[in-house]
Amino acid sequence: MDQYAVVGNPIAHSKSPQIHQLFAQQTKQEINYEKLLVPLGEFNQHLNSFFQRGGKGLNVTVPFKEDAFEFADALSERAQLAGAVNTLVVKGDGAIWGDTTDGVGLVADIYRLGWQIKSKRVLVLGAGGAVRGVLQPLLVEKPEKIIIANRTASKAVNLSEIFKPYGTICGCGFENLKNKPFDLIINGTSASLSGELPPLPDAVFSSDSYVYDMVYGSEPTSFMEWADRQGVAETSDGLGMLVGQAAESFRLWRGVSPDIQPVIEQIRIQM
Ligand code: NDP
Repeated sequence: MDQYAVVGNPIAHSKSPQIHQLFAQQTKQEINYEKLLVPLGEFNQHLNSFFQRGGKGLNVTVPFKEDAFEFADALSERAQLAGAVNTLVVKGDGAIWGDTTDGVGLVADIYRLGWQIKSKRVLVLGAGGAVRGVLQPLLVEKPEKIIIANRTASKAVNLSEIFKPYGTICGCGFENLKNKPFDLIINGTSASLSGELPPLPDAVFSSDSYVYDMVYGSEPTSFMEWADRQGVAETSDGLGMLVGQAAESFRLWRGVSPDIQPVIEQIRIQM
């Protein structure tokens, strides 16, 4: 049976094995997918050993996405732009291909929800690894503009410089946001993990705003609850993005795209 795994530290919480087993059942394939806890500083030796044992592909999560970027023999354009890799694929000649699927996963989930990106004013909060990974796939969908706002404004400005060739984008601090609402607001900060809220002016929300939090859990996040109190059109957490990025990894490995909707429903029940 073809072997796959997710590598991280910590890794016990990962839902990737359940997600990939559900994809395998749905597409009638037989795969084995495990969790690999790798000690810090031992990434390369564990990966070499996995691939020497015949492993076909890996998902890579915190804190190893930059190590995977260095480990890969060749990289997709989106991985080069993201500066990180979350999927490794063994090619026919044995070379290891690195890609990042978070952005495709986010965009797929936004469309699954029935939301729009084209010609919309998009506000992206945060300027860490997750945001860097989703900017190019969002820009491909031709929003009117993307504004990146971050606690450390200089990081948002730096990201906007990197992605300017792909569309209309600019970066600023939260305090620089004008009192004008956005159509789509994506929270890519980790603030929701600790129940905190980024300091946004209420005016960024309107009754026509769609609000996405990349963080997910068994309950709506603090950010979703705040947005709901402002009377926005709809909110979603990031579980669909998680399943969507996994589906894109599965497609890269197996050449078939699973349907994410039933898998999101199944994983939601287990949370
Ligand atoms: P990073 O650590 O790289 O970046 C964290 C970002 O959050 C920075 O921009 C940081 O600002 C900001 N931030 C942290 N705390 C606060 C706060 N209290 N108020 C305002 N801003 C804050 O993390 P990642 O980019 O890797 O991940 C961000 C989030 O996205 C995580 O919660 C992660 O769980 C989630 N995620 C979800 C995925 C999914 O599939 N659903 C996939 C990937 C990530 P500053 O630069 O000023 O420090």
